[in-house]
Amino acid sequence: MIKLVGLVGWRGIVGSVLLKRMIEENDFSKINPVFFSTSQYGKDSPVINKISYDCLKNAYDINLLKDMDIIITCQGSSYTDTVYPKLRTNGWKGYWIDAASTLRMKTDSIIILDPVNHEMIKNGIQKGIKTFIGGNCTVSLMLMALAGLFKKELIEWITVSTYQAASGAGSRHMIELLNQMGTLYNTVKQDLLNHSSTILDIENKVTNITRSCNFPIKYFSVPLAGSLIPWIDKEVKNGQSREEWKAQAETNKILGCVNKVIIDSTCVRIGSLRCHSQSFFIKLKKELSLKSIEELIDNDNKWVNVIPNNIQDTLLKLTPSAVTNTLDIPIGRIRILNIGKKYLSAFTVGDQLLWGAAEPLRRMLNLLINF
Ligand code: NAP
Repeated sequence: MIKLVGLVGWRGIVGSVLLKRMIEENDFSKINPVFFSTSQYGKDSPVINKISYDCLKNAYDINLLKDMDIIITCQGSSYTDTVYPKLRTNGWKGYWIDAASTLRMKTDSIIILDPVNHEMIKNGIQKGIKTFIGGNCTVSLMLMALAGLFKKELIEWITVSTYQAASGAGSRHMIELLNQMGTLYNTVKQDLLNHSSTILDIENKVTNITRSCNFPIKYFSVPLAGSLIPWIDKEVKNGQSREEWKAQAETNKILGCVNKVIIDSTCVRIGSLRCHSQSFFIKLKKELSLKSIEELIDNDNKWVNVIPNNIQDTLLKLTPSAVTNTLDIPIGRIRILNIGKKYLSAFTVGDQLLWGAAEPLRRMLNLLINF
């Protein structure tokens, strides 16, 4: 029977990308969708492929939610905190697919990234697991890029330096970044046209405006345009940020590792709009030729693509502007390091709203529909 699927959080940035992908892949023809909102209920639902659906339902109405076979939510952690326990204690046995981090590390949930842990997901469904959570964006993008090495258990440890896009913090942050960029430009617009202005004068004006109280920093709390922010999410122990903590915890859960892979990172917000980049410093368990490493990586899944380590290919194919709005996971700058033959570096870029957020949820929905 066609499944009743409740969509919550579809108006947000992750939810909008999810809807776009579902339309592209014709997923709405396979489900009976019901659209929910925490703030807009009673208003019109989106029109999908010229089909109008019933008006928006209240996303806090447990009785309505209980009728759903599957709920897919991109609403956020506080929504999950409020609604999920109520649904389960009310006896709801449906499938919960979620972008928020709240339930990721629970023992009765699976972090979903099916090109990497399809077997775990399939076995989980068979065993009666009902809660499937999308992974952290940098974790999912790292795993998509390095799955060929992870699956063969070739990695002893990794340190990661991330270069994360504004979209990871939500739509308001993306808008603030663009406003910051506009403010910088407007401050020196005349000077850029006037050839007698010196670059030091221009830089001085830009620096001064970023330090003034007129600079738009409501959401980031500090300038991002022309700068960067070397801290993402809350503080946890050992001086790590929560974003940095997730790398090892989530990766090992997704891989179902018996012997933990050690991963640590420094996570940095940069002025990219929706692509995260990551630089890896990897210790392998054994020596391998560069060619075999590249083949293992390249052959793992159809989205990952090894970019030859030369200037032209790197500049053309390994940047946020080349990758944005695609499912491609290019990985390049791969080389054995001078430190020793087991040490490898690599650089990857991925659209964090697609493989980093919406796409694993969409694919999970399809696995459940076809189960
Ligand atoms: P978001 O853009 O802030 O949207 C969340 C909700 O805010 C919407 O569903 C909507 O709910 C409400 N909203 C209020 N005003 C809005 C407006 N003007 N336009 C659109 N929506 C508005 O959140 P998000 O970044 O998509 O994140 C959602 C969840 O996914 C979070 O748990 C986040 O941690 C997780 N996640 C995010 C990313 C990412 O890249 N951003 C990546 C992985 C996971 P109502 O319809 O109910 O009002």
